[in-house]
Amino acid sequence: MTLFPVPAFSDNYIWVLHDGQRALVVDPGEATGVAHWLAQHGLTLDTILITHHHADHTAGVASLREGSGARVVGPAFEPMPEPLQRVQGGDRVQVLGLDFQVLDVPGHTAGHIAFYVANAGDAPLLFCGDTLFSGGCGRLFEGTPEQMLQSLTALAALPDPTRVCCTHEYTLANLRFASAVDPGNAALARYTQACEQQRARNLPTLPSSIGLEKQINPFLRSREPALVQAALAHDPATTTDAVSVFATLRTWKNEFR
Ligand code: ZN
Ligand code: FE
Repeated sequence: MTLFPVPAFSDNYIWVLHDGQRALVVDPGEATGVAHWLAQHGLTLDTILITHHHADHTAGVASLREGSGARVVGPAFEPMPEPLQRVQGGDRVQVLGLDFQVLDVPGHTAGHIAFYVANAGDAPLLFCGDTLFSGGCGRLFEGTPEQMLQSLTALAALPDPTRVCCTHEYTLANLRFASAVDPGNAALARYTQACEQQRARNLPTLPSSIGLEKQINPFLRSREPALVQAALAHDPATTTDAVSVFATLRTWKNEFR
């Protein structure tokens, strides 16, 4: 199985996973670039997976389906380009011979889902849309800090080698914030340097891994003393409760320049 992020718009990735003949794509916000990439590689589009309803993840679905007859699988409780197979947490989906687990990860949107497969070659794979980013997390458009923290905690419980396929190249901006709130973190400093080199060569910083994100991502570290202290110092109304720390970090990030 080969994994490749097809770039779209200014900072989206449309992930493609293929076996040399058939492909699945995740969150196609547009169709032209990814259809061209599939044709170039002689691949047939088998399945489209969707994590949530935002247009930059769904606007290419109708045209890709029309051109290929691909099956579409998406969240049970969000407005979606019909027809599709609707799934929710606890469901399993077989795609290209792989057994995907569906996870409910509300927070960015109310019905956001993620797709996880344990046996995918080199390491497990996670398609998490706009929930977990490298060094950051999605904005809370429809969910509460408590929901998002719960979703991220569930993702952090996946095996360390799990490849994290997020939908945006937000890593460097996320790491600038992470360094500001977690300045003593040596792993974060090393990772920032590595990502700067990747971006200087115009290469993706993704996929990341769960093990790495647990070391460097402030939104997976809201129980760490350093982040509790940073949140308390930033907003004295913060309590030591993990949800309160998380909420302060999320609001702080929204205002961070
Ligand atoms: Zn989104
Ligand atoms: Fe998005």
